[in-house]
Amino acid sequence: MVIFKKIRDIKDFIYVESSKGQRPGFVPTMGALHAGHLSLIQKAKADGLLVVCSIFVNPTQFNDRADFEKYPISIEADIELLINAGCDVLFLPDASEIYPDGETATKTYDFGYLDTILEGAKRPGHFKGVGQVVARLLEIVEPRKLYLGQKDYQQCMVIGKLVEMMGLKELEVVICPTTREADGLAMSSRNRRLTEPQRAIAGVIYQCLVSIESKQNSSSFDIVRKECEDILVSKGFVPEYVALADARDLTLLDNYKKGTPMVTLIAAKIGEIRLIDNLILA
Ligand code: AMP
Repeated sequence: MVIFKKIRDIKDFIYVESSKGQRPGFVPTMGALHAGHLSLIQKAKADGLLVVCSIFVNPTQFNDRADFEKYPISIEADIELLINAGCDVLFLPDASEIYPDGETATKTYDFGYLDTILEGAKRPGHFKGVGQVVARLLEIVEPRKLYLGQKDYQQCMVIGKLVEMMGLKELEVVICPTTREADGLAMSSRNRRLTEPQRAIAGVIYQCLVSIESKQNSSSFDIVRKECEDILVSKGFVPEYVALADARDLTLLDNYKKGTPMVTLIAAKIGEIRLIDNLILA
């Protein structure tokens, strides 16, 4: 695996590889890698592309300073995991490479409705930061395919819209399923910060998602939402939202809607750690 820190160097390398017919499959991350990230690397590998991963803890997408400062960093272990997964290129830029003119001078995008609901409402400025960094990375890597995790469902929609706004018609966005722990907890870099007792009960978020799915023909969403909120609270979580939405555009739904593709999404805090997860209703 080749590691680049400078834009100029990675662009030169990708230019040479692309001219030999090896186009990049790109997996942007913030590091502290786990099996969820590696599933994206493996998908890009299976698609026969030049696998390019980036690790950059993007300051502009953290609305909470403490969350940024405590974000887990494990570069050495990440590099080993990436080599073992067969990643070809790692881009490891400094903030000065990504934001040479400063964070505020870098182009931003307006995601409209998507930025007003759920994560957008709870984390003001978060998607603005995501759009900023992903746009920069796409300009640098110029991938053929972009691999994202369904774990961050709303982010997938935001980036889909970004790709549209940037006019990248050739770029294919591939959304990969959420990788879970044995108890259903969605893998996340933030899980490393859970204490043992917190970790022991964290699977309850997934249990709530499954119960929302399983009760779609027998109950109203209002009742199921209340049950889930009560369960989360009883386990020590502070629920931020338990929501149901149209899976195509994230229009929020008050109740189950037969014939409409639906997704249920939960955000909840345990202690200082904020966890999110979602499930597309079968
Ligand atoms: P992050 O490092 O958290 O910014 O995540 C980088 C990419 O990995 C994003 O596209 C995430 O959606 C994806 N990802 C994170 N966790 C998982 C997971 N448990 N399963 C699948 N993809 C994931």
